[in-house]
Amino acid sequence: MKQIAIASGKGGVGKTSLVASFASFANAVVADCDVDAPNLHLIFKPEIEEKIPFEGMEVAEISEEKCIKCGACEGACRFEAIENFKVIEEKCEGCSVCQLVCPVNAIEMKKRISGHIYVGNTRFGKFVYGLLKPGEEASGKLVTQVRRAAEEIAKKDGKELILIDAPPGIGCPVIASIGNTNLVVIVTEPTMPAIHDMKRVLSVAEHFKVKAVVVINKYDINEEMGRKIEAFCNENGIEIVGKIPFDKKFVEAMINEKNIVEYDDKLAELMEEIWNEIKIK
Ligand code: SF4
Ligand code: SF4
Repeated sequence: MKQIAIASGKGGVGKTSLVASFASFANAVVADCDVDAPNLHLIFKPEIEEKIPFEGMEVAEISEEKCIKCGACEGACRFEAIENFKVIEEKCEGCSVCQLVCPVNAIEMKKRISGHIYVGNTRFGKFVYGLLKPGEEASGKLVTQVRRAAEEIAKKDGKELILIDAPPGIGCPVIASIGNTNLVVIVTEPTMPAIHDMKRVLSVAEHFKVKAVVVINKYDINEEMGRKIEAFCNENGIEIVGKIPFDKKFVEAMINEKNIVEYDDKLAELMEEIWNEIKIK
């Protein structure tokens, strides 16, 4: 089974538009791993079949019956998550220190539902996405579980490809999205922050020994900067598999809950050409 991740580092460069378009051609299970702010479902409109609870960090719980109100836990908690002998769940980082210092074993660590994994049917096939509750951490762990769910579906349905929409940034959730894939497609645009982040994602891909290719979106908004991206990629042996002009139809398509393939024939042809390049890498 092949896995292709689409990443960008910087948000807002059009990564999700591209993933949504590739879904038209890929015959894949699509996994939205941007678990802090997934948005592919807004275009895909999945019919949800399954909602799986995700257990992130544990949370401390104080037994009122056992607690002798010595205050040791409050003093030991570095996250100021205990007040008046009660745990403030939103602040608790699940470190268990309070449990260790409690002289009467009044504290237990409990499982906490930190988000959900959704599995659904769309007009492009099966779709999986994760959604972390606001303020929750452990997004890397949720990304891993979203990918596992997508793998299980792909195996069951005999699909040979998983298309992953990676989150922005280069932190733990991006690493969890890129690791063990066969290819990373880095979407960039000719702006300084996007180029900077493209290089950071490239270094993550290199670290995990995953082949990377580049797509330049909105390449005509700054041609000089565009040439710099091309020069950088040529010097470093990174293939540019597509260049997409700026076109407000991409935004219009999204507003209309469609991908660009469904919205504009000319751009659909371009997206198919780019996908045909990607799928043979
Ligand atoms: S588990 Fe850690 S963060 Fe949570 S209340 Fe106890 S000491 Fe504080
Ligand atoms: S350390 Fe234990 S006994 Fe002391 S206040 Fe905290 S929960 Fe209560």
